[in-house]
Amino acid sequence: MRKWVDRRMRRGIVELRFWVSLGLCLSLALIALVGELDRRGMRTQTRFSMGQAAAEQSAFRPVYRIDANYDEKSDTVTGRMEVTLPKRSEEWKEVYFHLYPNAFRRWQWGEHSKPKEAGYLDVSAVKVNGQKAQTHIDGTVMKLQLPEPLAPDQSARIEMNYQLKLPKGGSRLNAFGRTAFLAQWYPMLAVKDQDGWHTEPYTSVGDPFYTRISDFEVTFRVPEGYRLITSADDRSEPVKGEVTLRQENIRDFAAVITKDYEVIKGKADDVEVNLWYQKGMEREAKALHRAAISAMRFFGSQFGPYPYREVDVVLGETGYGIAGMEYPGLVTSIPKYPTREGERPAVNVVAHELAHQWWYGVVGNNQVKEPWLDEGLTTFSELLYMHDQVGEDQREFLVRAAKVSDEIHEKEGVTSVEPLYKYSDSIYGLMVYTRPAAMLWELMDEIGKEKVLEILRTYYDRYKFQVATTEDFIRVANEVAGKDLTPFFNRWLFFKGDIRKAG
Ligand SMILES: [Zn+2]
Repeated sequence: MRKWVDRRMRRGIVELRFWVSLGLCLSLALIALVGELDRRGMRTQTRFSMGQAAAEQSAFRPVYRIDANYDEKSDTVTGRMEVTLPKRSEEWKEVYFHLYPNAFRRWQWGEHSKPKEAGYLDVSAVKVNGQKAQTHIDGTVMKLQLPEPLAPDQSARIEMNYQLKLPKGGSRLNAFGRTAFLAQWYPMLAVKDQDGWHTEPYTSVGDPFYTRISDFEVTFRVPEGYRLITSADDRSEPVKGEVTLRQENIRDFAAVITKDYEVIKGKADDVEVNLWYQKGMEREAKALHRAAISAMRFFGSQFGPYPYREVDVVLGETGYGIAGMEYPGLVTSIPKYPTREGERPAVNVVAHELAHQWWYGVVGNNQVKEPWLDEGLTTFSELLYMHDQVGEDQREFLVRAAKVSDEIHEKEGVTSVEPLYKYSDSIYGLMVYTRPAAMLWELMDEIGKEKVLEILRTYYDRYKFQVATTEDFIRVANEVAGKDLTPFFNRWLFFKGDIRKAG
């Protein structure tokens, strides 16, 4: 994501413009729709030539089948959801789901960002392999007690009914005009890894979401005249009654159901790039569509190919303080942002959110535990695009931001590698976005731009469709640089030691 403005930055240092686009970034990734064969497990090849390996891998991904009936009058989506659990390396006694929309039931994060109307996600009739199961819901987390423990090789199908009420004026998840923004809108399987189940609650700082690569089949039923913009390869014409969309190898499935948007279509090499806009945004829409195409090309050439067929950019407000947000294959952005010279198309926000397709979408990380990893790499990517393709030099800004983050660390003891909950809104962007971006910019001086790009390419290739950690990133950097950069990263990320000893 990208936020609007950081108070501390505004006070002392900075150019508003940079902050304006710091928003939430979700990236939606899309994989090719592989057709009927896939559904039977006889996978054909995808853009990464997965073939047989993918077929084997898919057993290790959750598979979601969601039925979604949208009612425009009540701002609700109701239906049934089925999740086939991935293969496990150990016995499971319980399973956790995130019910993020429940954050909007009783908003706890201040009046300024409170939705005008509450929203929620209710579930009922939960079954495991056809057997009734007990659930316990605490805020945004649901614990499901399995009727009997699941052995590692035992397959398990969890089914439930759900009812989603969209908040009005919510963050990311929102009903606005004749548009429903569906973000983190279905019960999302929590991640279990070496640290156990990740059941961290929602918070309004950062993007408090962590999911694994999954496969989706979503059937939407919408009233006449509505269009669907989703994480899958969608059609742009209005839906006639019902449509089933499938997408594999994505972390999340977002959707926008709308009667308010028009589309501009285009291509970045063989990736379809759709820009969705409302009346009154025509000028920005054209400029941002061009920017989106050039950003997709630029990131693809610098970091490695975008593995899906299509990406959607949706212009509009995404919630309080949020300039843009990333989902697999779908991003949102405000149409324009203010600068000292006046308002301009929000090219940096679009570039930022699209860069998340690489950092968050394809290479995942735990955004709750170490949010710097996707936001830092994404902010660096955004600045690189703005520098190389738009001719904007933010070097001075980065130097000043690095100094201020040193001061913040001295006063508050917080580093750039902390869980979301450790940051207040006012320092989050600086510590998690800007300082790591300044670090990578500095690294270009230390080891050369080509080496830094090679680090990013190697990291992308090695961790695509997986979850990477700070340690993984540093390991790749050391390997590619051919020397121990640990002192450099210790100084920049953990505020340890002297930066001049680096390299
Ligand atoms: Zn971001």
